[in-house]
Amino acid sequence: MALETIAAEVRACRNCRLHETRTRAVPGEGDPDTEVVFVGEGPGFNEDRDGRPFIGRAGDLLVKLLGAIGWRREDVFITNVVKCRPPDNRDPQPDEIAACAPYLRRQLAVLDPAVVVTLGRFSMGTFMPGAKISQAHGTVRPVDPATGARAALVFAMYHPAAALRTPAIERESFADIAAVPAALVDARRRREGADETVRPIESAEPIEIHARDDTPVPPPTADDPAPQLTLF
Ligand code: URA
Ligand code: SF4
Repeated sequence: MALETIAAEVRACRNCRLHETRTRAVPGEGDPDTEVVFVGEGPGFNEDRDGRPFIGRAGDLLVKLLGAIGWRREDVFITNVVKCRPPDNRDPQPDEIAACAPYLRRQLAVLDPAVVVTLGRFSMGTFMPGAKISQAHGTVRPVDPATGARAALVFAMYHPAAALRTPAIERESFADIAAVPAALVDARRRREGADETVRPIESAEPIEIHARDDTPVPPPTADDPAPQLTLF
């Protein structure tokens, strides 16, 4: 399988300095037939130990966010802009992101997602160059096909680790993810070519899919699930 070929190359990769300090590379995982790919920043301690993305506390929150719209982690594909852990969880450096970018590009070419959800500013930087996360989170744009995703919309979110640190960001993240199913519906329509309003990539302006209001949305609980639009 093409994704497994890429994963094997990632596990053996020495194209940037991050290979020196990694325990295991983390290629990514999920449903190869999914329409939605989540892209984080890079592996942390737990991910580096086990070779799987988003399995620590940030991963637990990501699973809760997905649960709020009735999705499970196995329904989507989850990966990162750098596949090896930056030491002490420091920010990935531009040359490391650039060295690792071909793997993400090839994964996206194989997956051909309708929606790419970016988690945090380093991932957003790949798909919405120049955007500021405080303004761009919860918004959608067409993806430049040069990213490997040939016909996708990108939806920006805060990184779950930021949400863990700041309750206001956690609330905004639950509000943001509630708009992802609508983005998927819109992306499907665009991919079918049925939408006359498809804009050229050059315009690169945010598309209003779902007006984001700033009303705090409490995280759903097991006995009080949020109203959801289940698409998987
Ligand atoms: N944070 C990330 O950005 N990616 C992971 O895989 C885990 C934590
Ligand atoms: Fe290779 Fe990416 Fe790991 Fe760097 S971070 S060694 S480019 S797989």
